Amino acid sequence: MAAETLVPSSADEAVELFGDGDDITVFAGGTTLMPEIAAGRLKPARALLLHRSGLDDLRTDGDVTQMGPMVTVAALADGADELLARFARQVGDREVRAGATVGGNLCASAGLGSQRGDLGAPLIALGAHVRSTGKGGERSEAVEDFLAGERSGRLMLGIEYDRPTGAWSAQTLRRRHAHSYAIANVAICSSGDGIRVGVSGVGPAAVRCRSVEQSRNAEDVLKDVDPVDDAVATADYRRRMLIVLVRRALDEVESA
Ligand SMILES: Cc1cc2nc3c(=O)[nH]c(=O)nc-3n(C[C@H](O)[C@H](O)[C@H](O)COP(=O)(O)OP(=O)(O)OC[C@H]3O[C@@H](n4cnc5c(N)ncnc54)[C@H](O)[C@@H]3O)c2cc1C
Repeated sequence: MAAETLVPSSADEAVELFGDGDDITVFAGGTTLMPEIAAGRLKPARALLLHRSGLDDLRTDGDVTQMGPMVTVAALADGADELLARFARQVGDREVRAGATVGGNLCASAGLGSQRGDLGAPLIALGAHVRSTGKGGERSEAVEDFLAGERSGRLMLGIEYDRPTGAWSAQTLRRRHAHSYAIANVAICSSGDGIRVGVSGVGPAAVRCRSVEQSRNAEDVLKDVDPVDDAVATADYRRRMLIVLVRRALDEVESA
C-alpha cells in the first residue's frame, strides 16, 4: 500500500510518528483514500494508520462533549447530539458510516465530482474547537479556522464543544438516492451570545457565515460562501438553494 506503514498504538505514539507531517498520509477509516489507492491516483510514501491509536473516545462530561478524530460517523449518527446526528445519518450509507470517521470527514478534500465534509456545518454552528499537531507543535483553534488553514500538514487529535443551550436548525439538500453527496448543508445554533451559522457541502471546506450571524439576512450567506460547480449541482443552483436553506434555518431558530 505504502513504502512505509506506521501503526501507532497510542495517541502519543501517533503524535511522535507524525512529527512535522512531511511525506505522511494519515489513514482514518480510509473511505476516501482506499479508492484513490485502488485507482492508482494515490501512492503514499509513508502511511500513518490510526485505527489502533486509541483516538476514538467519545465522552460528554456535564455540558462538554469531547471526541477523538477516529469516532465513526455511525457513532455520531446514533449519538445523543441530535444536531450532529442529523448530518451524520446522511453521510454515504450504513457501510460507509461504519468506517468513516469525524476526523476524516473534516480533513477530506473535495472528491472528483462532489464535495465532502458535511459534518463541518454542525460543528461550526456548535462552536467546536479542534486540537491538532504538526509543524509548530500542538494547538487548539475554532473548527472554521482549522478548516481554513493547511489541513494536510496537521494531525487532528480531538474535537470539543459545549452542548447547545438554545434553538438550532439543520437544513440539508441532496438528491434522493443512495450515495448522493450534499448539494448544500446549513446548521444554525442560537445561544445568549447570538447565532452561529455553518455551511458545508457547497465547496471544498465548511465555512462559518459571520455576515448572516450579524445581519440575520439569508442573502448575506453569499458574502461568506462561494459555491462551486460539480457533478452534483451547479454553482448557480447551489447559490439559489443556499439562500432558501439559510432562510428556513433562520425562521426555525427565531420562531423556536
Ligand atoms: C459511497 C460514499 C459516499 C460518501 N458520502 C459522503 C457524504 O454524503 N458526505 C460526506 O461528507 N462524505 C461522504 N463520503 C466521503 C467519506 O466517506 C467521508 O467524508 C468520511 O467521513 C471520511 O472519513 P474517513 O475516516 O474514511 O477518511 P479517510 O479516507 O481515512 O481520510 C480522509 C482525509 O482526511 C485525512 N485525515 C483523516 N483523519 C485525519 C486526522 N486525524 N488528522 C489529519 N488528517 C486526517 C486523510 O489523510 C485524508 O486526506 C462518501 C464516501 C463514499 C465512499
